[in-house]
Amino acid sequence: MFLAPTIHFTHRKHRIGTLGNRVVARYHRPCTNVPKPRARVPSLQRRLSVQASALRVGHGFDLHRLEPGLPLILGGVRLEHDRGCAAHSDGDAVYHAVTDAILGALALPDIGQLFPDTDPQWKGATSDVFLRAAGAMMLQQGYRIANLDVTVILERPKLAPHKEQIRQNIAGLLGLSLEQVNLKAKTHEKVDSIGENRSVGCHAMILLERQPLGNSDEPSTSASESFASSASGAPNAASPNSLESGVFAALAATLSRVHEVIESRRSADPEKSWTAKLFAKGRHKIAQKVGEEALEVALDAVQNRPDRVVEESADLLYHLLVLWADLGVHPNQIAAELEKRQGKSGLREKQHRNEYKDTKEQHDLVQH
Ligand SMILES: [Zn+2]
Repeated sequence: MFLAPTIHFTHRKHRIGTLGNRVVARYHRPCTNVPKPRARVPSLQRRLSVQASALRVGHGFDLHRLEPGLPLILGGVRLEHDRGCAAHSDGDAVYHAVTDAILGALALPDIGQLFPDTDPQWKGATSDVFLRAAGAMMLQQGYRIANLDVTVILERPKLAPHKEQIRQNIAGLLGLSLEQVNLKAKTHEKVDSIGENRSVGCHAMILLERQPLGNSDEPSTSASESFASSASGAPNAASPNSLESGVFAALAATLSRVHEVIESRRSADPEKSWTAKLFAKGRHKIAQKVGEEALEVALDAVQNRPDRVVEESADLLYHLLVLWADLGVHPNQIAAELEKRQGKSGLREKQHRNEYKDTKEQHDLVQH
């Protein structure tokens, strides 16, 4: 009885996928009640997966200018100081360096690319958001952290009284034991900007190991539980929905990468690029494709075909991304809207953010 809309499929349509970093398309059968051949192109998820090395090493470095009147937040701890980090987010150089170390180990774009400082949604963001997102991406790729070594370089104030809290915060956010997280603090011997108390720097080295095959649920689950429940009650506790929040951010990051590919095809030859062809045909055509793909998802769902729903959902998302790009909408805007609807954890994030907002808004802050 739900078959009436198949009339929409009497014309040929494309199946979209990616091959290497090329977006490719192929025709497939015009009608939904004929079984589909399996797609020959790798799925988006596979394209975005890193090669399955057993071990991967990553390095992150961050530096922020220190300016009077701003809060100094390092490793989720607010330190007493006469100045703080100038940044688009809360400027937590420790969380930023660790985030970049994880992303680097996974061969993913860096924190500045995934969470651009031109994007208003990250203004004043607490940086645990970025770290949780990187942790969720790591789990998605099938890796876990072996160990992490962080070196903070600042002239003042002394970090020693806060080192254990910072270690606990990092361990809590990433689902690690304290032994897996090391933190060192150094001065810069009064030379250069760090030594002159005008900036703070941080290095992070990380070793990731592949989750054992066939046992991937176990470490992933324990890490997930830690993501969700770690450090509860501590001042910088992960929110109860931090895993979900991280997954939203991870999905947003995946969509951002596809968005970049789509943007890069905008000016390509329409004869060679399906994306360029869609742009050339215009918004009505793109919107029509979105409608068709949505209907395919719906039809496969009512026919109880979860595998097809996964494939068609990827097609739908791809065409939706093209439509967004045509309208100048970035996937981060959709992610922000989803985050907003998360309710409790979103409210908690906002409350946390507002602690810094007032001071920060008086400044023209341009970096992470
Ligand atoms: Zn930073």
